[in-house]
Amino acid sequence: MARATPPLESDPPPGATPATTATPATAATPATAATPATAATLATRPPTYRLTEDQAALRDAVKVLADERIAPRAAEIDRTAEFPWDVKELLASHDILAIPYPERYGGLGGDLLTVCLAVEQISRVCATSGLIVAVQELASLPLLLAGSDEQKERWFPDLATGKLLIAFALTEAEAGSDVAAARTRARRDEATGDWIIDGSKRFISQGSVADLITVFAVTDDTQGTPRHKRLSCFIVEKDMPGFAVERIEHKMGIRGSPTAELSFKGVRVPDANRIGDVGRGFELAMRTLDRSRPGIAAQAVGIAQGALEVAAAYARDRKQFGQPIADFQMVGAMLADMDAQTEAARQLLYKACTEIDAGAPDAGRWSAMCKLVAGDTAMRVTTDAVQVLGGYGYIDEFPVERMMRDAKITQLYEGTQQIQRLVIARALTARR
Ligand SMILES: Cc1cc2nc3c(=O)[nH]c(=O)nc-3n(C[C@H](O)[C@H](O)[C@H](O)COP(=O)(O)OP(=O)(O)OC[C@H]3O[C@@H](n4cnc5c(N)ncnc54)[C@H](O)[C@@H]3O)c2cc1C
Repeated sequence: MARATPPLESDPPPGATPATTATPATAATPATAATPATAATLATRPPTYRLTEDQAALRDAVKVLADERIAPRAAEIDRTAEFPWDVKELLASHDILAIPYPERYGGLGGDLLTVCLAVEQISRVCATSGLIVAVQELASLPLLLAGSDEQKERWFPDLATGKLLIAFALTEAEAGSDVAAARTRARRDEATGDWIIDGSKRFISQGSVADLITVFAVTDDTQGTPRHKRLSCFIVEKDMPGFAVERIEHKMGIRGSPTAELSFKGVRVPDANRIGDVGRGFELAMRTLDRSRPGIAAQAVGIAQGALEVAAAYARDRKQFGQPIADFQMVGAMLADMDAQTEAARQLLYKACTEIDAGAPDAGRWSAMCKLVAGDTAMRVTTDAVQVLGGYGYIDEFPVERMMRDAKITQLYEGTQQIQRLVIARALTARR
């Protein structure tokens, strides 16, 4: 996928020196000083998030696909709570699942913003379906970040085509926000070099339908080992003896996405399935989340946008006291707030994607900020959408009650809102 560098949307006028954090504007060097741009000043330009032509085209194509093919399925997926294999095939056949994978492994080589544009457009009509793309990316990220060429060659082509699905197994019953408290154990068989995994994982999205599971397990529990050096990462294949799906949770929202409890009883995993260095699993999980949280923010922005559109259309049509309810200022104000909040969350998300792709040193902060703001926005906007529809918002004749239920998860998974605040506050107050 081409990654053109278009002009900045917020470019200063030609010849002006853009203000950057590296060179703050002072009275002597105002931000708009009319000094010609040089290679040095251009190099310090902040990353931009104006969409390339490719990105805009992809966004629009996914929007059409979502409206025509996924939206008509959304209520049924929610009602039956069954994984939508047909939607997964649709996403695969239109190369949407291929977006995050490098071109040399059969992917489209899309950047983070492109992945998020797809997740956003799909989630606008069906959050469960948007999550298929987000989880495929999330669970592949450890491989992308720390896998060997051989491992990428082995798995990425089939993940890119959607032939294989993958899940991300970090959470355990006693290790939710406190990831380092994991108990699932991977013991080395010194004779063969294999790893034997014992334990269980809880709340694993798509864990029951995935072919591969990215599992984080304790490889060093000797006393005195720092908590963040205990874990390593492995790929477990669903047919490996000892792996089992114990149960599927009954949930409030994203009901078509199976959330599974997985057990590992003496699962023998070859060392060739270990991702990254032994003892670096915690760090890898954190690096993964720094890059994957925008996917959840994109899901949240999509849900908010979907609810806003339903509410605005309803307000135009619904008449009370002889006039459209949109003409009541209190309703109009609600819609205006919903629109402004959704757009603000979207802009923060796009900016965060660009910063993270540009290798910003505070990628974790950007990632946490966009998920925090987008998750809260989705909850508020969908709740207000139900309000705009009145009693009709509360029944399943309209999609906003589903969207409100779906929105809640974006404040919980991949770190709760409290954990996002911790990440942001730590980045703010870290000693320099
Ligand atoms: C539908 C669904 C899908 C999921 N998918 C996946 C998946 O695919 N893979 C995976 O690994 N996990 C997954 N999860 C797990 C999810 O990431 C965790 O549920 C989440 O991180 C919170 O952990 P917990 O539920 O154990 O809550 P807890 O950690 O027990 O938190 C309970 C409450 O305490 C607060 N809290 C905890 N610690 C602190 C603190 N230090 N400071 C302030 N407040 C704190 C929390 O914010 C929360 O409000 C999924 C969960 C759900 C519900």
